[in-house]
Amino acid sequence: MGVKDRKTLTMIMIHNSLTGSKEELKPIEPGHVRMYVCGITVYDYCHIGHARAQLVFDVVARYLRWRGYRVTYVRNITDVDDKIIRRAGESGESIDALTERFIRLMHEDFDALGLVRPDLEPRATEHMDQIVGMIGALIESGHAYVAGNGDVYYQVASFPAYGRLSGKRPEELRVGARVEVGEAKRDPLDFALWKSAKPGEPSWDSPWGQGRPGWHIECSAMSTAALGNHFDIHGGGMDLKFPHHENEIAQSCGATHEAFVNIWMHNGFVQVADEKMSKSLGNFFTIREVLQGHRAEVVRYFVLSRHYRSPMNFTEDELVKARAALDGLYTALRGVEAGADPDEIALERFRQVMDDDFNTAEGFAVLQGTASDLNKARNAGDDGRAAALAAAILEIGGVLGLLQEDPEAWFKRVSVEAGKASLRVHGHPTTVEVGPDGLSPEQIEARIEARNDARRNKDWAEADRIREELAAAGVILEDASGKTDWRRG
Ligand SMILES: [Zn+2]
Repeated sequence: MGVKDRKTLTMIMIHNSLTGSKEELKPIEPGHVRMYVCGITVYDYCHIGHARAQLVFDVVARYLRWRGYRVTYVRNITDVDDKIIRRAGESGESIDALTERFIRLMHEDFDALGLVRPDLEPRATEHMDQIVGMIGALIESGHAYVAGNGDVYYQVASFPAYGRLSGKRPEELRVGARVEVGEAKRDPLDFALWKSAKPGEPSWDSPWGQGRPGWHIECSAMSTAALGNHFDIHGGGMDLKFPHHENEIAQSCGATHEAFVNIWMHNGFVQVADEKMSKSLGNFFTIREVLQGHRAEVVRYFVLSRHYRSPMNFTEDELVKARAALDGLYTALRGVEAGADPDEIALERFRQVMDDDFNTAEGFAVLQGTASDLNKARNAGDDGRAAALAAAILEIGGVLGLLQEDPEAWFKRVSVEAGKASLRVHGHPTTVEVGPDGLSPEQIEARIEARNDARRNKDWAEADRIREELAAAGVILEDASGKTDWRRG
């Protein structure tokens, strides 16, 4: 049975944050899944919390495609926002220059992590017509009002289902809430759809005067513009559930009078050393910092080894374990020619666990089990079975975005872990010697050549000395059938 047939086999169950239970994925348009994921506010480097969210939805898109679905994957870019305006003011850069720079850096980081590019990447500043149109519809339908100062607010009390996604009740939220100085809203729960222009800030025309959109409205306007009023999956980090996604529902349902999203998916938090990651605690890592010390594939393996809804504790130890696990998988694949027909039992096991709410943690167990079967088949001299198992590992690896490097290159590449990887925890640098300082493959080959010369001359002391020297540099030699192979230890 081929990949194409897989979507008809059984159903895919996904935990829906809106109902708190697992539900069958039933695309509104059969065979086509439309998915919107909240993207980045581009004013700083992306951090590992962003990396986790984007890796999770990357695998959702890859898996659904592997199951034969067409996926339209949309991820927005927030390119106008209070934080962006403040940062541009601090740096003296124009807002455009700042956002363009961080969009470029975001793409570099996401490409380095091997994320598939979304099909559409709408930007708020390019969707002002849709944003203004949706705010107009909300005013017309009585869900929004124009305040005296030209701000437009969503009237939360006008939407009885408010709080359903987050499980928060408006009357409880109202306790202790108050209208801040400078705000012109009627109810502390009301939130800004449009902020009237302030001197020195970017602004756009609207029927309510010059101004700029609030953050929440852009996702309602852009998701609807890209995917229609009603679509299948909306994703984001757990921290976006309230108020951002709650507000999106109120806006979209209020403006269109239609259903909005069928399944809401939220990934768990990232903690560092058991604490919430935050700049003020000094345990805040950018993707760039982490990738200086660890290969992207190692980071990906670690992030996906946890179920996406579980909290994740980001530690150096776990990255080292992920590296070891990947080394084991690449060792299994080493020297085996993958066959044309992957082992269907392995693929079927993988499908079963992933159909159950994208359980990548169990998917990794399948991968490791298949690698262990492959080692056994190879030791037993069963080349046919080894070829089929290797093909299954590569296919599963492709769905997870892993194991696509040539195993020889994986072991011989001058490791980015070479030298010192230092991550700061609580402001203290934690330096970990993760690997040897890199000799280039050419240098290593030259040393092996010199050692072979020494052996031919029966200069065993020199041959041993070279072996030890390479071992000290983390290079392990393997002599077999008259040849010397090497790998990095
Ligand atoms: Zn959003």
